[in-house]
Amino acid sequence: MKAGRPFHILTKPVGPICNLDCKYCFYLEKEKMYPGENSWRMSDAVMEKYVRDYIHSQPVTEINFAWQGGEPTLLGVEFFRKAVALQKKFADGKTISNALQTNGTLLDDEWCGFLAANKFLVGLSVDGPAELHDKYRVDKRQQPTFDKVMRGLEFLKKHKVYFNTLTVVNRANSQQPLEVYRFLKSIGSEFLQFIPLVERTAAGETNLDFAEPPLLVRSGVSAERRILFFGLVSGTLPRCRYGHALERRGGAVWEFSLRDF
Ligand code: SF4
Repeated sequence: MKAGRPFHILTKPVGPICNLDCKYCFYLEKEKMYPGENSWRMSDAVMEKYVRDYIHSQPVTEINFAWQGGEPTLLGVEFFRKAVALQKKFADGKTISNALQTNGTLLDDEWCGFLAANKFLVGLSVDGPAELHDKYRVDKRQQPTFDKVMRGLEFLKKHKVYFNTLTVVNRANSQQPLEVYRFLKSIGSEFLQFIPLVERTAAGETNLDFAEPPLLVRSGVSAERRILFFGLVSGTLPRCRYGHALERRGGAVWEFSLRDF
């Protein structure tokens, strides 16, 4: 059946399974929603039906598949070869594109050769230079991951895979915004994405490690959370203003776009 309008789905073919243990990860715990489940890999049958229906149900000629996790590279290259083969089988004249979000630690020649050949757009998760990235992005042994991510990045560059970066703005890197920005530019990222880390907290909880504790705005919009975005100064930015930042100049607070740099 065709949908009345286009839609986009984030595909999580390995559920919440990941080889890392980022301290702020909200998604690993989703494993507990399926007690007793021990197979998280999307089955061949489900993949075939999903690929076919996702393409056929859209009333447009350009279809984008976005693969996420957990860590989707845990599935191995062969899984994605099958996905691309199915996309071709069911394309029905439509143009298909793919995006894959990864922590980058498992990328190698085989992966990046495949990603380049099939024109995947890769989102690489990196939170800044080593001392900031490794603050929260650790593996299952709580060891730093920065070096492995940079090794993955070199494979992406070697094979000329088109990539961008995704940075979680947290309590550590929010204090050094220009260092983060310059680092991301220095590694060749031409499209920088930022996600503010916003904690879910019990009322009155303080001393959070990852993000500025949400506080009620002192006056005006009482239900709105106070967000420290990119850390130049504490302030309030509604969701529609994400991508902007606040800076204190003299006694005044100014809002500006990161494009101003
Ligand atoms: S790489 Fe992503 S999914 Fe894996 S632990 Fe880190 S934040 Fe969670």
